Amino acid sequence: MLLFCPQCSNILTVSPSPDTGRNRFECRTCPYSHTIDKRWYQRREFKEKEREHIFGGKEQWDNADKVNVQCNSSACSGREAAFYQVQIRSADEPMTSFFHCMKCDCEWREN
Ligand SMILES: [Zn+2]
Ligand SMILES: [Zn+2]
Repeated sequence: MLLFCPQCSNILTVSPSPDTGRNRFECRTCPYSHTIDKRWYQRREFKEKEREHIFGGKEQWDNADKVNVQCNSSACSGREAAFYQVQIRSADEPMTSFFHCMKCDCEWREN
């Protein structure tokens, strides 16, 4: 990640603030500095990951890991599902497993 100073357009460096000890962007040329809100970055990362899975398009299933599992839909006889795991809660909680039926394209999850 490369950010530029909004005041003088030089590249910002990251260093801990002498006041708070938290990382901040700092301009070497002018007095500009901006404290990095770590929680904001984590939340943003999670949203982008989730969107990839939901809007990833059909070809993603061809490359996904497959498991032999009975389709969750009672109307479908599919026995092969793409399997993937997503961290939808905080990082220290277990991943949630999702299945995507290769026959009828329905999806379900465990946990
Ligand atoms: Zn600057
Ligand atoms: Zn199915």
